[in-house]
Order: sequence, then C-alpha cells, then structure tokens
Amino acid sequence: MNIFFMKMFRILSTLPAIMILALGACSTESKYALVPQPESIEAVCCSSCKVPASIPTYAADESLIAVASTWAETMTKTYAPGTDSTAAKHVRIVSDVVLPAVSLTDKAEDAVLCLSIDTTMAADAYRLTVDKKGIQVAGGEPKAVFWGLQSLSQLLLQEKADAQGVRKLSGVVIEDSPRFPHRGALLDCCRHFFSVEEVKTFIDMLAINKMNVFHWHLTEDQGWRIEIKKYPKLTEIGSVRKQTVAGRAYKGKEEEKNVYDGVPYGPFFYTQDEAREIVAYAAARFITVIPEIEMPGHCLGAIAAYPWLSCDGKQKEVACRWGVFADGVVCPGKESTYQFYEDVLDEICDIFPSEYIHIGGDEAPRDHWKTCKKCQALMKKQGFTKEAELQSYLNSRIEAYLNAKGRKIIGWDEILEGGVTPSATVMSWRGPKGGIAAAKQGNHVIMTPNTNCYLDYHQTCNPDSLGENLAPWKHYLPLQVCFEFNPFDQLSEEESAYINGLQANVWCEFIKTFDHVQFMTLPRMSALAEVAWSKHRTDDYDGFVHRMEKAMVPTYEYHGYVYAPYVFDGSDKYAVAKEKFVRPAH
Ligand SMILES: [Zn+2]
Repeated sequence: MNIFFMKMFRILSTLPAIMILALGACSTESKYALVPQPESIEAVCCSSCKVPASIPTYAADESLIAVASTWAETMTKTYAPGTDSTAAKHVRIVSDVVLPAVSLTDKAEDAVLCLSIDTTMAADAYRLTVDKKGIQVAGGEPKAVFWGLQSLSQLLLQEKADAQGVRKLSGVVIEDSPRFPHRGALLDCCRHFFSVEEVKTFIDMLAINKMNVFHWHLTEDQGWRIEIKKYPKLTEIGSVRKQTVAGRAYKGKEEEKNVYDGVPYGPFFYTQDEAREIVAYAAARFITVIPEIEMPGHCLGAIAAYPWLSCDGKQKEVACRWGVFADGVVCPGKESTYQFYEDVLDEICDIFPSEYIHIGGDEAPRDHWKTCKKCQALMKKQGFTKEAELQSYLNSRIEAYLNAKGRKIIGWDEILEGGVTPSATVMSWRGPKGGIAAAKQGNHVIMTPNTNCYLDYHQTCNPDSLGENLAPWKHYLPLQVCFEFNPFDQLSEEESAYINGLQANVWCEFIKTFDHVQFMTLPRMSALAEVAWSKHRTDDYDGFVHRMEKAMVPTYEYHGYVYAPYVFDGSDKYAVAKEKFVRPAH
C-alpha cells in the first residue's frame, strides 16, 4: 500500500466512528422553553434527574431556607381543578397538574435540589443545573435563587408526572440574569378596590414573571385608599364615593349625559397593618412595593376630606366619574399643604421601606392657581413666570423632604414641565416622549408608555364580539405590540444607560373585578416581563408565542389565573393575520 492509499484507508476507516459519534451526541439545544427567555439554556448530554413528588431540598445558606419555603408556597393551588365562568364572565381554567412539594433536609447528600449562594456571581444572576447528580440552583443573592426557582417551576410543568408523582427532568444548564433593575407593574386600587388577598395574588403574578416592583396606586379623585392616622377623614370621607358612572364618562357641557349606578362605593381602604402585610408578602418574593401618593392633581379624595387643601377651600365631593378635575388640585400657595404631605409621607415611609416613593404629578390642571391669591403671591415671591413652576416648587420641596429621610422620588412625565431636579426619576407614560426627553437631560427613567404598556387597553380588535367588556376608548394594544416594545428607541447608547426599566400599568376605571384584572394583565404582562428581563431580545414573535404555550400558559392554568386566550386559540383574527396594527392616536 503506498502512502496515498494508506492515508485514504485511515480516513475511510474512521468515518463510521465519526458517524456513530455524531448520531449519539446530544444536541446542545434544550427541549425546554422559558418565559422570560434566559441568557443561555443548554442541554446536558445524556443526563437526567428523577424528581419525586416531594423534593428533598438542601439550603446551603441559611438565608435560602425562607426562599425554599416561599417557593413551596408559590406552588400551592388556590382553586380546585376544572373550568369555571368567573364573575366578569371570563373563563378560569385550572389544570389538574400537581407540582412537587418541598421537604427541607439538612443533609446535602440526601437532597435532590440544592440551593446555594455563589459569591463569584453577580447579585442578580442565577445558574440552574439539572444533571444526574440532581438539581442545583445557585445565585449571587437569595433573590436570584428565587428567580432560578421560578424557572425550575416552568421546567417541572413541562414534564408529566407518573402515577407516583415522579418526574424525569432532562439535563439542562441555564445561566441567567435580568436586563433592567426595575421590572414593575402598577395596580390601580383607587378607581376600583381590590382586597388584600387579591393584591397578594397580583404580587404572585409578578413573581412568576420574575418582576420585582409592585407600584401601588393608592390615592385618587375617586378614592383615598390608605389609612393615615393623623388624618382619619382621608379614609372616613375620602374612601367613599356616592356612586359610580356607568359606561362612558362625559365631561364639561356634556356632563348631564352621564348615567350613574346610584350605589355608594366604599368605605374601601387598606389599614396600615394590611399594607404592612402586603409589603412583607411582596418582600418574601423579592418584590419592592412602591406606593404612589398623588400630588398636586388627582386629589379629590383628599380634598373632599380636608377642603382646606384646595385653593378656594370649598367643600367638594369624591369624584363619581372618571377624568381630570380642575377641582382635584391642591393649593401650592399654602404652607398647610406642605405640612399635610409631610405628615402623610412620614406615615407612608414608616409603612413602605422602598427607596422610591411615587408622588404622581400627572394631569394637574392649573386653572385655580391662576386666580388664587396665595398661589400668585408665591409665584411673585419666587419670581416665577408660569404656573407650571409652582408644581416644580412643590415637587422640589417634597423631594428634599423625602431625600432627608433617605428616599427618592418618582413622578409621571408631567413633572418635567416646570423643570425638574436631576435626581428625580421620571415615569414616561404619554408615549415614550417624556422618557426620551428625561434621559437626554440626564434623569433616570422608567418606561411605561401607554402605547405599549397600558394593559387596560383592548387586547383584541374585536372587543365587542369577543366579550372584552371594557372601556369606551378604542385603544388597541395586542400582545405583539407589548412584545415588540423597545425601551431604547430613539436613544443613544449613553442615554440608554438612564433607562432603569419598564412597567405594565393596569388602570381600573373599567375593571371592577379581580378576575377581570387578571384577564387584562395576562398574557401581556409576560411579554413586558420578557422585554424587562431578557438581555438577548429577538424579534421572533412566533417563537415567543410557542414558548408562552409551553411554559406560561401551563403556569397560568396551574394557578387558575384568568388570561386572555386570543393569541392561543386564534380568536383574534386580526392578530393572527399579523397585519399591520392600526392604533388610534391617543
Ligand atoms: Zn392656591
């Protein structure tokens, strides 16, 4: 055999071995789907782990014992399996799947699941490993381990248990950490009130989406909802409205067209103990509660209780219809207004340990300020030329007061109008414009443009035929528009660094029941959670819907959370056709 043929022989004789290797090798692509999409997910070759009906769990760090028990709590089912029609005539599907229980063990060798802190990892990064040795969830801090366990729940839901409740998980390694530090959702408990248990369920909905901020909208024209001990009338008077407008709310000359239900609403409010209970419940799920105390507008609830807060001091009523009210604005020309807010914020800071306090700032008509002697005197004294500066003056005084208590302020994008201190964080809601302007001038921003983040908007183009009984406004915000949201749009790389994150807002003028809240929130909250969490975003919407069907829909149905089925059952033909969405101007 000459050298040429010897070489050929060697090459040919190795081919079957290469082919066998190729056939036997595992693909690195995992069969599992996750929402939000993790940074990396890879299969572990030829490895798997048996998970019993009760998982022996070892917490290598004491701080993780509480994490394990909270995780176990998050897997308890609220509803019995089956399908029901809810109060708001939506369908609640509860699967008969049972996820494993958690049994803590103090012997690492007995454990199937091992939780640990890895100080070499970033504080919010976790690594989830499934192989023949078992399941390991390691994180930089306990919160990251908790998020890793949320991913584990999604993996477990993708495997069927045998008759003994045993599941076989395929080998996988997930490396993951969030894109933004602020991944939030707002619930409006003022227009309609939700019980402590319902608020806790909303917090659970955030937790399964790895979100970490609950923005609690607590004061409004239509009701003040938090107990303040120094000002008892806020809840005695301010938490009750005589009646509620039915259907569309007209204003101005058309006001007489309004139809009211004639049913008193309230008193509805949270006691300070209840609020503390909610703060603790959220904290166990690594969710910060940011309270919102509105000023200077949307204050009719407070003004009805204490008329001296307004410019004219006249008695006013808690609003019975939706809208923006010139009468709902407090007087920035009186010292008593500042005293009131400082007293209220003292109690608020005592209940809520959050670094940020939201002070509202949106939709505050300045009509009364123009004719109020006290407001005009203050403008003269301060050398202001426009009324908007009065709002900035109020904001800066309140900000200084909160800063002295070690807190920072967030306000809606209107706070930019009369000038804003560089330390204020701006929540951009009137489209992304406010956020872009704020980031360009160096203010930190939370993006929550109504165009992508307002979950009270219709999620189908056929709201009437599909029974999405809702607001008379026709804004259309389908799941895909949430998924495609780019919080960095129109920003340079440098300006993008000012974006702290984003938020889904659930306003409740037209959402009266909590199952309706769930229906409007899911699945769109999961799309926004993915935008907020996933660093490597793709524009693969079909892939996202596929992952939702594998990972998130079973999660919703495990817990019995009501969700809008349009995208999954094809009932919103407009969205299925993927035509260009035409949304009306706001
Ligand atoms: Zn005034």
